[in-house]
Amino acid sequence: MPLKWVLTKTCKNCKCPRDGHEVVAEHGARSRLGFVANHDSLDARSLGYTFVPPGLTSARQVDQYYSTLPSEEVPKLGSKGEMLRSQRIVRQLPKQDLSLSACKFVEPEYANSYQDFITGRNQVALDVGLAKATPPNSICADCSKPIHSTQISVTALRLGDAVWHPSCFKCKTCDDLLVDLAYCVYEDNIYCERHYAEKNEAKVRRLR
Ligand SMILES: [Zn+2]
Ligand SMILES: [Zn+2]
Ligand SMILES: [Zn+2]
Repeated sequence: MPLKWVLTKTCKNCKCPRDGHEVVAEHGARSRLGFVANHDSLDARSLGYTFVPPGLTSARQVDQYYSTLPSEEVPKLGSKGEMLRSQRIVRQLPKQDLSLSACKFVEPEYANSYQDFITGRNQVALDVGLAKATPPNSICADCSKPIHSTQISVTALRLGDAVWHPSCFKCKTCDDLLVDLAYCVYEDNIYCERHYAEKNEAKVRRLR
């Protein structure tokens, strides 16, 4: 089921105005996208990370998940991986794509089509992947190789039963790991928000 979309001008966590938010890693992609906090997820910081994927229920599963990523990509507190994650959030989730209030360049006559783009994207394309124990005989939707049942895999509810190796959950255009598992679906492929918006360039060209 798609996550609930909430339009708020201030960040729910610390009440800061989201536009002026410097510390992107603190709140993560989920907050930047306006999704409500996932109260079921593990507390990343107490496990030594800045992010742990939703869907996992134990520290052991988190370690299993991260053991399949290159070590420099693991967002441990104070690590290079933490910095890379912050950079990805800014790169993959451009603020001007996220809400009208963050976009300072929309001419009034385009505001409606811009809002239509955002509404359509949020209703049919955008979501956050879930990590889970891998069902038997799973094949990765990206590399087409088996995912061992002892490993953790990533699922994208917008694409049904498909599963990915954590290291294969990437944008089809930039081949970058999807930060905090935030993805958009376009013609049955997954993209970062930036490149999903590019695919819709005809609709949004005048707005960017
Ligand atoms: Zn904040
Ligand atoms: Zn794969
Ligand atoms: Zn991309």
